[in-house]
Amino acid sequence: DQASHHSGTVAVYKPEMNPYSERRLTLMTELRSAIENDKLRLYFQPQLNPQTQRVKGFEALLRWSHPEYGIIPPDEFIPMAEQTGLIKPLTRWVISNALSFCHQLNHVDPTITVAVNISAVNLREPGFSEQAKDLLSSSQVDARNLVMEVTETEAMTDPKSAIQTLRALKEAQIGLSIDDFGTGHSSLSYIRKLPISEIKIDRSFVTGMDKNDGDSTIVRTTVNMCHDLGYEVVAEGVETAEVQSMLAAMNCDRVQGYHIAPPMDADQAITWLVDRPAFL
Ligand code: C2E
Ligand code: MG
Ligand code: MG
Ligand code: MG
Repeated sequence: DQASHHSGTVAVYKPEMNPYSERRLTLMTELRSAIENDKLRLYFQPQLNPQTQRVKGFEALLRWSHPEYGIIPPDEFIPMAEQTGLIKPLTRWVISNALSFCHQLNHVDPTITVAVNISAVNLREPGFSEQAKDLLSSSQVDARNLVMEVTETEAMTDPKSAIQTLRALKEAQIGLSIDDFGTGHSSLSYIRKLPISEIKIDRSFVTGMDKNDGDSTIVRTTVNMCHDLGYEVVAEGVETAEVQSMLAAMNCDRVQGYHIAPPMDADQAITWLVDRPAFL
């Protein structure tokens, strides 16, 4: 942007950029106990069918409520969890809590899905698919109500072992979604071979698509290509009514973004859902 351009080589200091910063060292040390002592929270952001406005699902998004630093976003602590191996128990915690939320949703609408973000580390973890199935069977939630999102670049790093895990998850009828589609070094032939059910178009193409013909062309083409391949399409980062109606006209299956609702805690999300006119 303009400011950083004019500042030349003098970068703006952000504490999380320095690997030895006090904040980073503190967070690294405290992450394990935060997981064990329930200091993490899952927020849920709804996804709608843009044509009917009907709620189709929610995405679970992690927050860490820290006594000193306040709410810490996942982009700051997920990489730490991946480096330390804590991502394994953390993802199990996420799946288990997302399934509890899904069980609550079942009383309102049993077709609503809940998506969790998983890391590439989880795809390489032996026994991951078995653990996911165990969590499902102790939750009373149907596997078809659970979706796992994996970021495009990550899904590609170790294709062979990742694909084995993805196949086992698909076999178990868990939905699989490629997150942030369009930002990684994707090979289209690879996308065709992945055992997935859904593509999430990255918000960098979506948010401004009403003002940028190139972006709207990319989104329309991606929706059509994915439909031809048999995948559902989610657009993330929908911030205006204009973008939502463009996506409806393109037959995009689901929309998600601040225009619909921000991520909310479980109680807020249920209240938001039952208060919607469509359910009255
Ligand atoms: P993501 O999976 O692509 O999640 C979407 C991000 O976009 C979320 O950021 C969400 O709050 C934000 N967002 C939603 N609507 C809008 C919008 O209209 N405009 C804009 N500008 N942003 C919007 P958040 O919650 O900070 O999460 C960031 C990333 O952290 C996620 O990206 C995901 O990759 C990762 N993450 C979050 N929760 C988990 C988790 O439980 N496990 C793992 N492994 N990663 C997670
Ligand atoms: Mg996601
Ligand atoms: Mg992501
Ligand atoms: Mg995304």
